[in-house]
Amino acid sequence: MTDGTRGGDTPGGDTRGWDGERLAEIAGRYGTPVHVLDIARAERAADDLLAALGGLGRPGRVYYSVKTNYLPYLLERFAGRGLGADVVSGYELRAALRAGFAPRDIVFNGPVKTEDELALAVRESVRVNIDGEHEIAALERAAASAGVTAEVGLRLFPGVPVATSSDPAFVAAAERTAVRGRFGWPTGSQELERVVGAIRAAPHLRLTAVHAHLGSQIVFPDLLLAALDPVLAEAARLGVREVNIGGGFGVPGILRPRGSDRSPGPGLDPAAFLTSVDKRMAELGLADAVVACEPGRLLVSDAMCLLTRVMSRKELPDSRWLILDAGHHIAPWTGTGEVHRFQPVGRDFSPDLVPWSLAGPLCYEADIHAPDSDLPADLNVGDLLVMHDSGAYALGRSNNFIRMRAGVVAIEGERADVVWRAETDEDVFRFAVAPS
Ligand SMILES: *Cc1c(COP(=O)(O)O)cnc(C)c1O
Repeated sequence: MTDGTRGGDTPGGDTRGWDGERLAEIAGRYGTPVHVLDIARAERAADDLLAALGGLGRPGRVYYSVKTNYLPYLLERFAGRGLGADVVSGYELRAALRAGFAPRDIVFNGPVKTEDELALAVRESVRVNIDGEHEIAALERAAASAGVTAEVGLRLFPGVPVATSSDPAFVAAAERTAVRGRFGWPTGSQELERVVGAIRAAPHLRLTAVHAHLGSQIVFPDLLLAALDPVLAEAARLGVREVNIGGGFGVPGILRPRGSDRSPGPGLDPAAFLTSVDKRMAELGLADAVVACEPGRLLVSDAMCLLTRVMSRKELPDSRWLILDAGHHIAPWTGTGEVHRFQPVGRDFSPDLVPWSLAGPLCYEADIHAPDSDLPADLNVGDLLVMHDSGAYALGRSNNFIRMRAGVVAIEGERADVVWRAETDEDVFRFAVAPS
């Protein structure tokens, strides 16, 4: 991949494993914009990761990051597949419990957890990874009143970046951001010592895990491994039972330009990466510790795609636009610095590719997906485009600014089922309350 905006392999044909004809059928039947979830893809990704962990010869855990895609249908499938869940708020915790994840297979992360949320976690025996000093006293109170000893983890950060670039401005900014962390405590710091001391002094808490999560769409395995090293060393020093290396494993389908550098980077093979982590853990004396990870994107990114129709075509002296019915309200890629791939489907297209600017339908300046995307010259109103990799960070981030949220159709074998319906006017205005 040299440029993630390129239309791709065979315009009009089967694309990245998706059946173009089937997608066109779904768009015709359910309308657009609509997400399509191929559940077999998500399950395969989960099975592959579990198999990679299983091959290490040490106990391993996968906590699926619920914020990445909270679709109950997906959560239930993952729970049934032997995954755990990583939650970062009370409502995610309740959704994970409802979906059938065993409480002991859930970890509760995040920079803010309310007293009620912490009490729920302790009552349910969900492990909390402490991220704020005030959590210690709240957890101790909750555990004492429930009459239990609560196992807790501690979030750490090493202060080194996990991405690099040929653009020195990006590198400088990444270094600054990494040292100025706010999630957890810096490895090797006095602040960390104080927090560890406070946990150990709490009679109803037991420190059994360390946790780090160092970014998303990480495509430099060597940098990630080096960054995790001080975390693993702290785990060995503290004698914890579980080392949670977080998520962030990058996927090939999307590109996050790093400043002016648009190269895809080496890419991260999860199985090879976990083998390196396992080896390093053994060297550091963590031979028997559990290795845990918290992928989101890796498991769901390309399990879902978004079907959108060309609503307007404008060829002007200085620009050529295709205006789609999917905007940033449901496809927030550009806003998160990501370039996704687009592919026309549904008919045969001209082999002649021209640069099109792709925009969403919102009456709003920034609603642009790609300024310059090589796509068939004959694309026109009514044609269908697939926006690939809509599985991660689309559904939960979507909103109803100007237009409404899209639904999700899940396919499995010959089946197609709506598993999340599109939003209606009624949904939007349900929040309105007439003053009494
Ligand atoms: C968001 C998040 C993840 C998942 O990140 P991905 O990049 O989607 O793998 C894992 N752990 C924590 C704590 C998170 O906040």
